[in-house]
Amino acid sequence: MKTLRERIIDLLLEHDEGLTVSEIIYQLDLDPRMEKEVLATIEKIPKALKKKGLKLLMIPPRCKSCGFEFSKPKATRCPKCKEQRIEEAVFVLKT
Ligand SMILES: [Zn+2]
Repeated sequence: MKTLRERIIDLLLEHDEGLTVSEIIYQLDLDPRMEKEVLATIEKIPKALKKKGLKLLMIPPRCKSCGFEFSKPKATRCPKCKEQRIEEAVFVLKT
């Protein structure tokens, strides 16, 4: 049985263009309530990957209204224009 981290790494390796947390949850058939756990797992991936020569990149969440870029992977509300429609962060595994 593979760990959640291994399953996420395998999935990201199959998707060059990257995936959002929602897409990862959908593809791995996880409970949507596991969002926090998935994010925490993704944040721990870089350590596991160094040995394999892989790098985890995050395309940050972006406000759909003004384009504000967040630095953290999870965003719910734009600090600039108060917009709540936020484009999700995308995670990409690069060699
Ligand atoms: Zn905004």
